[in-house]
Amino acid sequence: MYYTGVLSPKRATLLGVPIDALTQAEALARLEGFLEADGQHHVATPNNEMLVEAHHNPQFRDVLCQTTLNLPDSTGLLLMARLRGHRLPARVTGTDTMQMLCALLDERHPVFFLGAAECVAERAAQELKKRNPRLTIAGTCSGSPQSQDADDIVQKINAAAPHLLLVAFGAPAQDLWIAEHLSKLTTVRVAMGVGGAFDFVAGVQKRAPRFMRTIGLEWAWRFAHEPKRWRRMWRAVVVFPALCLFDRSR
Ligand code: UDP
Repeated sequence: MYYTGVLSPKRATLLGVPIDALTQAEALARLEGFLEADGQHHVATPNNEMLVEAHHNPQFRDVLCQTTLNLPDSTGLLLMARLRGHRLPARVTGTDTMQMLCALLDERHPVFFLGAAECVAERAAQELKKRNPRLTIAGTCSGSPQSQDADDIVQKINAAAPHLLLVAFGAPAQDLWIAEHLSKLTTVRVAMGVGGAFDFVAGVQKRAPRFMRTIGLEWAWRFAHEPKRWRRMWRAVVVFPALCLFDRSR
């Protein structure tokens, strides 16, 4: 199903995917609210490349249309939304949201870190615990998004009983994984795809300096440090704006 409408004054639509118009503080308040209540919520953090992927991959687009929140991870989403007459008040990245949320949580809401390369989830969890002594780490697992590993991972997570699950398998794998398995994760109230966030917190990748993030050039920093990402950069910087400018659905 291709999502075409503007859902509410608090959502914009880009390439058929709803994007939430929230400030960072509002996003954190919504996440805390989800963690306090029963129910399960999938939170995604779409960027330019993810919306290009969703444009070509109907299964991924459907998943992004069914999440509770889609937080705009990249400045490109804000610019393209503005061109289409919507206002997204702030860039709300997966990396920042994960770190700020972990700073707010205590033992009532244990957190599980899933994904990234061997040991990186554990290092990211330890670093966040060091910064936030009240944070409770339910468990960590590098795992993999492949279906043959899913049962083991689901068992591990259920045994650890977290309320918040952070998944760093990269997109679209992390959001497809959450959509398929969230209902089996009996204690999880919020599952959020966070892309390369564990790498940044663990110090495996260096994040762009704040001024580059502020002026919307984080993609250029990542390209300079990981030139093998050129195909993804092309999709983010050239294909995404072109698709948005020529997209006729409103
Ligand atoms: N990753 C993973 N398993 C995979 C593919 C990727 O755990 O099969 C991890 C990778 O190690 C990285 C994270 O997914 O920690 C996201 O990487 P990427 O840089 O692609 O995310 P972005 O920040 O660009 O969304």
